[in-house]
Amino acid sequence: MSDFNWCHGPQCHEKHTVDRVRGVKGSKVLRTRKVKTNQWNRNTQWEFFCSNHCQNDFWNKHARDIVAIAPRTECLETPIHDPKRTTNTYTYGMNDQYSYNRTETKIEVDETRQS
Ligand SMILES: [Zn+2]
Repeated sequence: MSDFNWCHGPQCHEKHTVDRVRGVKGSKVLRTRKVKTNQWNRNTQWEFFCSNHCQNDFWNKHARDIVAIAPRTECLETPIHDPKRTTNTYTYGMNDQYSYNRTETKIEVDETRQS
């Protein structure tokens, strides 16, 4: 298996950046970027895209085809316990001289109702 992919962004080769310039004088081109596989992008979508922009371009062009692979025809639900609202006081500063209240809602999954 090769250790790189060509970026799958459909317009990657049209973006005006100096790192895409290839070829000899008189016949220069803008070339699709190589995406080297490494420990940070291995087994993620980032093996195939050089940037968010290229990933967005790919999605914009192919979203309907991609979604057809695993269509969502109905909503999913995760059972939860009734949410608990609590107001906590937080302090800060060198001597905790400042404080503020913050209301938080705790949401917990109800494992007993997991299907
Ligand atoms: Zn790209």
